[in-house]
Amino acid sequence: MSRSQRREIDRQRAKGHAAVLRYGLAVDDASTALYSLTHLLNSILAKRAVRNRASKAAEALHGVFEASFSRQPDLDAIDCKKGCDYCCHLFVSALAPEIFLISRKIRALPPPERDALIERIGETNSVTKGMTMRQRSAARLPCALLVDSACSLYTARPLPCRGMTSTSAAACKTSFENSGFEDDVPVLPAPLIYRTGATIAMLAALDNNDLDDNSYELIEALNAVLGTEAAEEKWLRGEDVFGSVAVSIPRPTELNERIAEAKYHALAYR
Ligand code: SF4
Repeated sequence: MSRSQRREIDRQRAKGHAAVLRYGLAVDDASTALYSLTHLLNSILAKRAVRNRASKAAEALHGVFEASFSRQPDLDAIDCKKGCDYCCHLFVSALAPEIFLISRKIRALPPPERDALIERIGETNSVTKGMTMRQRSAARLPCALLVDSACSLYTARPLPCRGMTSTSAAACKTSFENSGFEDDVPVLPAPLIYRTGATIAMLAALDNNDLDDNSYELIEALNAVLGTEAAEEKWLRGEDVFGSVAVSIPRPTELNERIAEAKYHALAYR
């Protein structure tokens, strides 16, 4: 490839990064934006001099999800509101960069708030550790980050929480009271599509940088990371900071195929 071809590719990629940060992903024909996001995340994770590049990548990921979400035409159909917390009693998983982002935000809280939250995470973990997804939901225990029925780290919440948009709070209530399962709750499809697209992009970028791409149970993972000095830097060096933390269910084949596709199209020329 000539230098001018290389420059042209770089120019197109910079345009793609700017576009996906501004407009987010699309519900239909998501490929272009998805590949731009994959390349953007890959570029952030590849900056070896940046010690918190994993949590920086999570911030970019969340920003793109929110840009996608804000352009959703049927936002009025969403019945979620502050103070409604049924879905904050379910099993939540998150990718390692998202866990490092939440942990960074926790450490930056004023000491009394920070210490109370770290203690609550430890207490919750001592009860929920080892529970299956089904057991965790059926137990109907609140997430440790929930304070006065609202997420205390709302701006850093992971993708599974962002993608959960119910169109019936009554159905959430019934589901919660019956079994704690979300399966019978009507949700908007688009946020789930954005969530999947964003996850694919992050997984492809992690894989491309030889970084751990597991999805971990949120509270157990936070407990592990908060108890480890410089956990993000250690993880970026390939150290196992999550130990025996529960990982989410294996990925379906179709998702693995889409991750491979994203890697191929977005990262062919680095
Ligand atoms: S992280 Fe926040 S939004 Fe997600 S379950 Fe916990 S309290 Fe709810």
